Amino acid sequence: MTQTINSGLDDYPAQVSAVAQALLAHDGPTVVLAHENPDGDAVGSVLGLTRALRELGREVYAPMPLPRYLQFLPEDGELEGPLETWPEGALAAVLDVDNNDFSRVGGADMAAFSGPVVNIDHHGTNLRRADALLVDPSQPATAMMLVDVLDALNVPLTEALATPLLLGMITDTGSFQFSNTTPQTLRTAARLLEAGARLNWLNEQRLQNPPTYYTLLREVLNSMEFQHDGQVVLARVNEAMLERAGGNWEDVDPYVNMLRNAEGGKLAVLIKDFGDKVKFSLRSRGGVSAQNIAVALGGGGHVPAAGATVEAPYAEARELLDQAVIAELARAQTPPQPQE
Ligand code: 5GP
Ligand code: MN
Repeated sequence: MTQTINSGLDDYPAQVSAVAQALLAHDGPTVVLAHENPDGDAVGSVLGLTRALRELGREVYAPMPLPRYLQFLPEDGELEGPLETWPEGALAAVLDVDNNDFSRVGGADMAAFSGPVVNIDHHGTNLRRADALLVDPSQPATAMMLVDVLDALNVPLTEALATPLLLGMITDTGSFQFSNTTPQTLRTAARLLEAGARLNWLNEQRLQNPPTYYTLLREVLNSMEFQHDGQVVLARVNEAMLERAGGNWEDVDPYVNMLRNAEGGKLAVLIKDFGDKVKFSLRSRGGVSAQNIAVALGGGGHVPAAGATVEAPYAEARELLDQAVIAELARAQTPPQPQE
């Protein structure tokens, strides 16, 4: 088990140098990981750090299976499939996820690892237990924190580093539309562009959808529910819908961003019904915390974007969601409305 060695060391620059030191001081291989079901911030952060460490001559494993819409980004052979066994003498660099949340870390089994862990993350629910930590929920994206880490590693920004890091920033700021976009966010993004980051290429590539995306979208729109006077917007996807559309689970994630644009909506919930368990993707605004609802359901994330998996069939999981939503609307003083 890793311990906290950062007590009393909460300031950001000190944490940046601590993780850079831990990465540089390690002689053996580094295994770079992020959360399962990776998004642009997860893969962008992993590629940014992996490429930088390889440039420094380090042996790096980056086990990360990618969803279809992100497969354009890595070079052939840069990422690999899930790690079967941990390499001898490895350090784990865990990005964009809490290293203590074993079930959320993708690519390798953290429960089977007893070596040193570096954790770089911006989730408010992070438990902050690692050998070297850089955790700052005020940062919009882990990829943006990686820019500071690369500076501390003295690795100059090149196009190959800047492009994946910009993808991370684009993803977690909703293309610089969310409230987590600060002047510093845009300054860092500008630095990445100056280094050659391919902004237009990233967006052209990541936003292309196969026909099944649209067929499935029809089904998702048919399942939309407006609750609590339109404050809560939900939609559900299950296996039967995927089969009818000929799509797969990878097509599903982007739909929640469409739900969150419903006028008057304060909470959007995309429900992935896997049969034996249910994953909720939550997005909120206007004083409502998606994070509070996710935490009540055993998950986590950020205040405006969070998620949880409930190990129960749909009806049961939905009951728990509905209760957590009502509690959060009451807390946020946006009174729950009677349901028909
Ligand atoms: P998404 O809905 O896109 O899967 O996730 C939204 C945010 O919540 C992301 O930052 C993601 O890392 C986090 N998140 C999603 N599901 C879980 C979960 O089950 N547990 C925790 N701790 N975080 C989650
Ligand atoms: Mn992130």
